Amino acid sequence: MASQPYGWGLIGASTIAAEHMIGAIRSQPGHDVVCVASRSPARARDYAAAHGIARACDSVAGLLADPAVQAVYVSTTNERHRDDVLAAAAAGKHVLCEKPLALTLAEAREMAAACEAAGVVMATNHHLRNAATHRRIRQALREGAIGRPLFARVFHAVHLSAALRGWRIDNPAAGGGVTLDIAVHDTDTLRFILDAEPLEAVAMAQAPVMARQGLADGVMAVLRFDNGVLAQLHDAYTTPHAETGIEIHGERGSLIGRNVMTQHPAGEVILRDGAGERRLDVAHEDLYARGVAQFCAALRGAGPAAATAADGIRSLAAALAIAEACRSGQRVRIVQAQAGEAP
Ligand code: NDP
Repeated sequence: MASQPYGWGLIGASTIAAEHMIGAIRSQPGHDVVCVASRSPARARDYAAAHGIARACDSVAGLLADPAVQAVYVSTTNERHRDDVLAAAAAGKHVLCEKPLALTLAEAREMAAACEAAGVVMATNHHLRNAATHRRIRQALREGAIGRPLFARVFHAVHLSAALRGWRIDNPAAGGGVTLDIAVHDTDTLRFILDAEPLEAVAMAQAPVMARQGLADGVMAVLRFDNGVLAQLHDAYTTPHAETGIEIHGERGSLIGRNVMTQHPAGEVILRDGAGERRLDVAHEDLYARGVAQFCAALRGAGPAAATAADGIRSLAAALAIAEACRSGQRVRIVQAQAGEAP
C-alpha cells in the first residue's frame, strides 16, 4: 500500500502558490499539497479544483485542524503573515512563510519566537538565494575571484503585470509598495552573496507613477554593509524594458549577473578582470523547488533552510530602513541584533 504523502497546507489561495509553489512542493518525493485555505469558500473550492488539492477550507483554523497537514506555506497578503504563522506554530505545523515576513520587526520576531517555542521549523521564501546564478556569484566571491568586494549594484526595476496591480499598488495596510515587495529580495540577496550585514541606508522614492495611497512604485537606495561594501539598489514596478541584474565590483575584478533578479532559472554570470571577460558555468535549476528541498532538509534536521526565519528578519530590517529613509529623508541605521541575541 502506498504510504501517506507528507502533507502541506496552503494558507492563502495566491498567485505565487499557483504559479510556482504548488509545483515546487510536489516536486519533492513524497510531498503533496493536501489542503488550501482561503477567506472565500468559493475561491478555496475553485482553487482546490484547479490544482487537484483534496481539501478546501474557508478558514485557517480549519486547515490547521487537519491532521494530514504537517507543514504550511503562508502566502497571504503581507499584513496577514503574522497571524497565520502564529496560528500555525500554535498548531504545531512547520512554516514556510513568504516575504516580507511581516510589516514590522516586532511582528517578525514574534513569529520566529513562536515557531522556536513550538519546536517547528520556520523559513522565509527568499527564492533568489536558490538561483544558480546568485550561488555562482557567491562562490566566486568566496574563492577570491575579484579580491575584496567594494561595491554592489542591484537592478531590479520591473514592470508589474496587470494581474498583480491590486494590493501592491493601492493598499498600504496590506504592506503594498515596491520596497517591502522587491527591495526586501535585494537586501536578502546581497546579504547572501556578500556574507555581510547592512548597517545603514539612504534612499529616495519617486513620485508614484502607478501606485496610489502614498505607496512607492520606484525607489533608489544605498546601503553600507559591515564589510565596507556600498550597495546601490534600483527597484520599480514601472519600467517595461529595464534589464535586471546584479554587479559586485572588487579590487581585482567584477562579477556581473545579467537578467538574474527573476523567478525563473535564467540569466548569466560574467567575470571580468585583468585577463578579460568570461562567462562562468551555471547549472540552472528551479529556484522554488530548490528552496522547498532545502526546507525539507531542515525538517529532517539535515541543515538550515535556504533562508531561515532569522534571514527573513534581517532582510526585512534593511527593507524597513529603506522605507524609513524614503519617508524621512534621513540616513537610517539598520536595526541588527547584537551577537548572541535573536535577530
Ligand atoms: P495574491 O494577490 O495572488 O494573493 C494574496 C492573497 O490575496 C491570497 O492569499 C488570497 O487570500 C487573496 N486573493 C487572491 N486572489 C484573490 C482575488 N481574486 N480576490 C480577492 N482576494 C484574492 O498575491 P501574490 O501571490 O502575488 O503574493 C502573495 C504573497 O507572496 C505576498 O506576501 C508576496 O509578497 C509574496 N510573493 C513572493 C514571491 C517570491 O518570489 N518569494 C513572489 C510573489 C509574491 P485568500 O484566498 O485567503 O482570500
